[in-house]
Amino acid sequence: MILSNLKTIRLQIQKTASKCGRDPDAIRLVAVSKKCPVSSLQEAMQANQFLFGENYIQEAVQKKAVTGDSALFHFIGHLQSNKVRPAAQTFQMIETIDRFKLAAALDKELKLQGRNMDILVQVNIGRELQKSGILPEDTEKLLTQILPLSNLKIRGLMTIPPFAENPEQTRPYFRALRLLAKEMQEKKYFFDNNHVELSMGMSSDYAIAIEEGATLIRVGTAIFGDRPGQ
Ligand SMILES: *Cc1c(COP(=O)(O)O)cnc(C)c1O
Repeated sequence: MILSNLKTIRLQIQKTASKCGRDPDAIRLVAVSKKCPVSSLQEAMQANQFLFGENYIQEAVQKKAVTGDSALFHFIGHLQSNKVRPAAQTFQMIETIDRFKLAAALDKELKLQGRNMDILVQVNIGRELQKSGILPEDTEKLLTQILPLSNLKIRGLMTIPPFAENPEQTRPYFRALRLLAKEMQEKKYFFDNNHVELSMGMSSDYAIAIEEGATLIRVGTAIFGDRPGQ
């Protein structure tokens, strides 16, 4: 099941990319494995999927102990400042940096561990009260504050748009994130301004996100099926 789901999604990525003139290799699939047993990750690894997204630190620590170093993990959940130690030890990228205090705590911990980390700044592009993420108009200020933190590499922006029945309704939000990233790229806020990461798109709307420039898509249920409790 996981194997055939991955095949379907890879094909869809290729089709969508070629339709809009993008290189399919510029789009990386983050398999969102939250609440999935580690056997599901191992099954995905059998099918050459080595990049995973996790929302809970402890769960990711346990899975990484089993999968070993061939699997890479992105943190995509809400990170608390008191969890930066295990986060810094476990993840290749943290996609959800949305406040300076958190960035500073992470940078301090990385200095102790003697390593750097790739991060994305999470933007609340739909301006939803209940959602994490920095507001679009405050993003530049946050980037300015994070830039001097020498153990963090700001790779790009991430967003979770408002829920929509029709995936087409997410397009304006994806487009807005792309335009914001372009503006920040022109001002040279990113670690590599020739290659800015845009993490957007989930199971229902990743094709639209690709059309709008996503370089990282975060897909869970379309790979692993419904999570327990759903
Ligand atoms: C759970 C989750 C996803 C995956 O959602 P699906 O609809 O299962 O593809 C993507 N991004 C974030 C931040 C998530 O928490």
